[in-house]
Amino acid sequence: MDLQALVRNVPDFPIPGVLFRDISPILEAPAALNHALEQMVSHVDLDAIDAFVGVEARGFILGAALAARFGKGFIPVRKAGKLPPPVQSLSYELEYGKATLEMRAGRGRILLVDDVLATGGTLTAALTLCERSGYEVVDIAVLINLVGLHALTFRGKAIHSVLVYD
Ligand code: AMP
Repeated sequence: MDLQALVRNVPDFPIPGVLFRDISPILEAPAALNHALEQMVSHVDLDAIDAFVGVEARGFILGAALAARFGKGFIPVRKAGKLPPPVQSLSYELEYGKATLEMRAGRGRILLVDDVLATGGTLTAALTLCERSGYEVVDIAVLINLVGLHALTFRGKAIHSVLVYD
């Protein structure tokens, strides 16, 4: 199935100069969604995973769908101020300004997921936050990798990408 043909490319959204990769058509088509979910974990030994961690907001959609599909838990990484205490926090630099991610502390082996890898800033911060919060990050999976094949590891962790754009 050609998932890439379903991705909608939207120029100049949300700001001029950004080519936004819209995965909505994949989410709307049951067979495509199912295929995307299977491809996201095709490299993973699911017995070695306790839960999926998804990053707000589209990482929630894929992470929760993966959790339900494969019988695992789901743990959200959220933007600051959304989760009730106690939470672990991590601030990181954006191109302009700063952002903070938060999650509940816990234990277990997790697969970290998001929809799109662009600069990698979000996933790098989420990976560090997961580790500081007590989780063992077994692997990272994204539906779309905009960085290309040269960026398939973070600090020794494999990043599994279903669609790679150069
Ligand atoms: P980054 O931290 O630069 O890797 O950005 C990743 C986050 O921003 C992901 O959570 C994506 O949902 C979103 N994102 C960044 N660039 C794009 C893009 N071109 N199309 C769609 N989403 C994007």
